Amino acid sequence: MVPDSTLTITPRTVLVTGGNRGIGLAVAERLAADGHRVAVTHRGSGAPDGLFGVQCDVTDPDSVDAAFTAVEAEFGPVEVVVSNAGITDDTLLMRMKDEQFTRVVEANLSGAFRVAKRASRGMLRARFGRLIFIGSVVAHSGTAGQVNYASSKAGLIGMARSLTRELGSRNITANVVAPGFIDTDMTAGLDEKTQALAVAAIPLGRKGSADDVAGAVSFLAGDDAGYISGAVLPVDGGMGMGH
Ligand code: NDP
Repeated sequence: MVPDSTLTITPRTVLVTGGNRGIGLAVAERLAADGHRVAVTHRGSGAPDGLFGVQCDVTDPDSVDAAFTAVEAEFGPVEVVVSNAGITDDTLLMRMKDEQFTRVVEANLSGAFRVAKRASRGMLRARFGRLIFIGSVVAHSGTAGQVNYASSKAGLIGMARSLTRELGSRNITANVVAPGFIDTDMTAGLDEKTQALAVAAIPLGRKGSADDVAGAVSFLAGDDAGYISGAVLPVDGGMGMGH
């Protein structure tokens, strides 16, 4: 029998960190359009129109706990987490201060750890969970000037794969979506020459959009991705091929 080609999406409670702008906002809007109950974190800018917002700084464990508690009170246990909050602080190794390295790892990697740990409580009880980490193409390729950032994003792969081994038997999956060069505030600040060089290295010949990333996250949050875990899904126009 030919299966029905319609995608199945069971509505879930979702939390997207850093969902007030950029990739996080596009992801949140897409997941809401898919029919999920979506909450986003922000750091004081307020919730975007039509989305439930909670204030949260992922570098602060109490703030992460309070955000989850607020979402649980509104929607019930969080079933899908999109760990998207992240920062850059680029400079060459010789100029990079300890504090610059630590600050980026603290937000991008330790923050993701805190969020996953808090999320796992409800997921273990429910015997269902989807942990989706927003990594980066540079986790594999590295970039000059991003020792801190690339290290933090590479760490997310080890995290997702360890979580897959720890939590997989409880029907909790953990995957990384690895964007390439995406048009957001994060890349808007790069000078024209750097932007042109980056685009020249992309086989598809263009920057990605936040919506390109949102499509991949939508798939991983949906029913059809239930047997995918520990994967790194590139959304990079071919930029990272071979790594
Ligand atoms: P933006 O700079 O546009 O947005 C970053 C988001 O993260 C904001 O919502 C910001 O909140 C939030 N954030 C930063 N630090 C914290 C923190 N300590 N606690 C809570 N929230 C925080 O970036 P993008 O949308 O481009 O990036 C989103 C994710 O995608 C990041 O993890 C980034 O590394 C990754 N990525 C981006 C790529 C790109 O080309 N743009 C490529 C590959 C990966 P606030 O508004 O308060 O600052």
